[in-house]
Amino acid sequence: MTVKTVVFHALETGPALTVLGAVHGNERCGPEAIRRLIGDVEDGTVALSRGSLQLMPVVNPKAYAQNVRFVERNLNRQLYPKDEKVHYEDHLDPIVCDLLDRTDVLLDLHSFASPGGPFIFLSGKNPDELAYAKSLGVSDFVYGWAEAYGGGGSKESQGTTEYARTRGALAVTLECGQHLNTDAADVGYRAILMALSHLGMLDASCPAASGLGQSAAAADLRCVRMKSVFYRDEGASFCKPWRHFDAVAKGETIASYANGEKLVAPEDGFIVLPKEAAATGGEWFYFGTATAYPE
Ligand SMILES: [Zn+2]
Repeated sequence: MTVKTVVFHALETGPALTVLGAVHGNERCGPEAIRRLIGDVEDGTVALSRGSLQLMPVVNPKAYAQNVRFVERNLNRQLYPKDEKVHYEDHLDPIVCDLLDRTDVLLDLHSFASPGGPFIFLSGKNPDELAYAKSLGVSDFVYGWAEAYGGGGSKESQGTTEYARTRGALAVTLECGQHLNTDAADVGYRAILMALSHLGMLDASCPAASGLGQSAAAADLRCVRMKSVFYRDEGASFCKPWRHFDAVAKGETIASYANGEKLVAPEDGFIVLPKEAAATGGEWFYFGTATAYPE
């Protein structure tokens, strides 16, 4: 088994942008977006003016072949080279980390199970990273998830973005929408072009540059700060099929318990990543409130 990395170098020096797909093997939009981009660079639709573009379309090839999230270990946790390799994914760590060691900016393309559209996880307060995240053509952001639920800085919760930041890179995870959204790969593809443009790496005279849209307008940005996580009780059910980022008003019924009691929104806010079919005791949905885009 091999892992493929494709690198395009412009003749002018500049930043190294790395784009990853299928860190989770069942998230198919990243590989599709990256392969489309490779074809477009090769036929001249996309041209680089400076820097290098490092593309790893399928980071976890065995999980991708099996269409599963991972085979033996979630590659996006505990990501660091290990002296003793126990799981299959442990053999991928040094390959990914070596690439991230040579990266100035990371774009990691994912998708998710809940119904809903694209969003970006924001973490920390690095102004360069916040400006980069805002440039990718996506208008929805979840802030403070890693701090609240990701363990905040431990190696246990270290995935691609966390590892890349320890190496000084700007890093963003883009969730391109639900796994099967027909536009998920388009969202990822456009984000790669927007990243190249933001970094001054896209040749303004190439065909792709002329068709590139604008970043989301400030007024259209929706940023939700994570407040709480809800676990599913035995027999509890949503009162309607919630989608990620559905707005709820204070007191609005979200779900009902087996005994007939209602679960209502504690304040005006948003449903984040609802999992209708969560197992009893499992993470059911998150609740967050609107916040300004962090500066
Ligand atoms: Zn993922």
